[in-house]
Parts: sequence; structure tokens; C-alpha cells
Amino acid sequence: MSRSERQAGSILTIDLAAIVDNWRQLSALGGGARCAAVIKADAYGLGDEEVACALQAAGCRDFFVAHLDEALRVRKALGPGSSIAVLNGTPAGAEREVIEASLLPVVNTLRDLADWGAQPKRIGHPVPVILQVDSGMSRLGLAPADVEAVVIEGGIPQGLAVQLVMSHLACADMPDHPANEAQKAAFDSLRAMLPRSPASLANSSGIFLAEGFHYDLLRPGAALYGINPVAGAANPMRQVVSLSARVLQTRDVRAGTGIGYGHRTTSARPSQLATICLGYADGWPRSAEIKAFFRGQRLPFAGRVSMDTIVVDTTDCVSPPREGDLVDMICPQQSVDDIATAAGTIGYEILTRLGSRFERRYLRPPAHIAQTNRSTSETS
Ligand SMILES: *Cc1c(COP(=O)(O)O)cnc(C)c1O
Repeated sequence: MSRSERQAGSILTIDLAAIVDNWRQLSALGGGARCAAVIKADAYGLGDEEVACALQAAGCRDFFVAHLDEALRVRKALGPGSSIAVLNGTPAGAEREVIEASLLPVVNTLRDLADWGAQPKRIGHPVPVILQVDSGMSRLGLAPADVEAVVIEGGIPQGLAVQLVMSHLACADMPDHPANEAQKAAFDSLRAMLPRSPASLANSSGIFLAEGFHYDLLRPGAALYGINPVAGAANPMRQVVSLSARVLQTRDVRAGTGIGYGHRTTSARPSQLATICLGYADGWPRSAEIKAFFRGQRLPFAGRVSMDTIVVDTTDCVSPPREGDLVDMICPQQSVDDIATAAGTIGYEILTRLGSRFERRYLRPPAHIAQTNRSTSETS
């Protein structure tokens, strides 16, 4: 056991080869459209540098993050060549830094447009940007009235090279929701008012709507990381994440023994318990009272999820785990989406909250030459 394993107790394994396979599968679905990768929030908690490098090695050239700091870190990891867009826009005053790092700002407001519109004159050459329009989610992007105002006031400022007009779907995970077609129609009419540019509308679930939603660039995030993009149907994506937690202590208890905080559970019979090294401080939701697995056997939770530990019941195991063994928490029998369902949330929230206390192991695609400084079996 390595030093980091002893310290961490739990191991998060991230299968970069599965992420690459998922990207290829989504690319194939897109037909002629290019497939980008959304790697905001540290690639949904899985490590943006590792994910970006693996995908770039597989041929992905378009990346989306949310914040400028994320973009700068990813640019360092990727080197020049691929495009890196900043979805939330970039802070006023940061324009020089954005241009120097060859990042693509997403222009969301008229204010952004004016700030960026002043840049080409300042530096003496065109400046590439992405224009986001609000087609009906009411979150980010120029509203239809803003787009009309831009047109009336003379159009996109001289020297701004619009690389992409994009918008985001509110209800893509509900294929029959009328908002999808309504947003598509609104997007088309907004694009018609603007100079011709490549377009992008589909997130993960959007890719699985009709082909008409694909446009020129797909923007999947969740599906790359194994979250099911088609609610209510079998998950077409490969699982990416597995999580195992070490058994810290085992004990036998008599019938009628209280277990954990508030004695939430009382043993109904003589029982064997194992306390594992994982809790809500690691990102396991306190409300997800489900089970662990050991060599395929189910170990139901006993008592409440604590900050750093969970007690599981091993009474029915033919070969129960011993102290020091690893039990499986996210595994083929139990997906990120299953945990989300148990906790009343979505897989996105589970993934992005898996904390930094785990030892992280990256499984790399065979052809991928490591470009990052986090090695395969070191703690990040
Ligand atoms: C997060 C995000 C995506 C990716 O969405 P998924 O549902 O994770 O595929 C795409 N576009 C925008 C604008 C986003 O904010």
C-alpha cells in the first residue's frame, strides 16, 4: 500500500479511455458536426488537465470551460492549437490576458460586446469571439431584443470575428418537451439576424434529440463522463468513474444494538458491521443511504452517513470484507446516476462534489502519451 493510499483511504478511478470512447461515440452521432468537450468545473470534478489532454490526443479540438482561471490552466496543459472557450464570459479588464492565451470569450451581454468590440482597434487585428444568444432558457446570452438592438445599431463591431453563435437548451433531457422545438426555432430566427457563422445548440442530451439540433458543433459534458443523457432509457455511455473505500474496522454486535448517530438503525439480529472510510465530506450525499459492494455481494448501509465514515452491514456476506479491504461504492452494479436517484439529485451534482480527499488513479488510453504532470498513481 502506497503512502497516499494509507492517507486517503478511498480510491477514485477515472477511466480516460472510457471518456475518449464516449467522445468518439458522440462524435459519430453528430454526423457532420464537430464534437467539442465541456470540461468546466475541473471536468465535472474528474480533472480538467487529464481529460483535456486525453481528448486532444484523440482528436478533439474544441473545449469549453466556465471560468477564465479554468481556461488558463487548460491552455497550459494543452499548449497552442485547440480552442478553449469561456462560457461565463471573461471579466472586464482581462481582455489582454484572454487574447494572449488565445482563449475564446463567450459574449453574453451587450456590455461584453462593447468591451470586446473595442479590442480589435486597440491591438490592430481581428479578435475571435463566440456569441451566445438566449433562445429561451433565460440564463446567459443576448436576449432577442439585444440582438435586434445590435442589428439596428450597425451590427457586430468591426474586427470581431464571430467563430460561433451558440445557445443552450433548458429541457433537452425531456425529449417530448415543447421547449426544445421552440428554442430551436428561436435560435434559427436569431441566427438569421446575425452574420453567417457556425452554430452550436446541443449539450449531451441535445445530441440525442433530432439531428436538426446538431448544427456545426456539439457541446457534450455529462455524457462524456458516463452520465446517462437519455433519461428513462438504458445508458448508451460507458461508465467512467469507480470509487472504492477502505474498511477501517469490523465488529460483531448483538441484536438490539444502536448504530451510528441518533441510533438511526438498531440491529434486528446479531450482526456483523464494517466501518468504511468515506462520508459526506468526501462528497457522498448524506441522503444517499444505499449500499456498498464487496466481490459482488451487497452490503446495505446501517445508520447514518457520517462526515468521514459509513457503517455497512456484512452479516449476509459469504466472505465479508476484513479490515483494510476495499469495498466498491461506484462500480458496475451502482452508477453515479443511481447514487443521484437515492439522494434526490442529478448525476452532475454527485460527480462535481466527489472531493479531493481520494487518491485518484487515471486509466489512460493505450496510445495516449502522458502530457500532464499528475502521474497515473499519485494523489492529485
Ligand atoms: C454545461 C454546459 C454544457 C454541457 O452540458 P451537459 O448537459 O453536461 O452535456 C453545454 N453548454 C453549456 C452552455 C453549458 O453550460
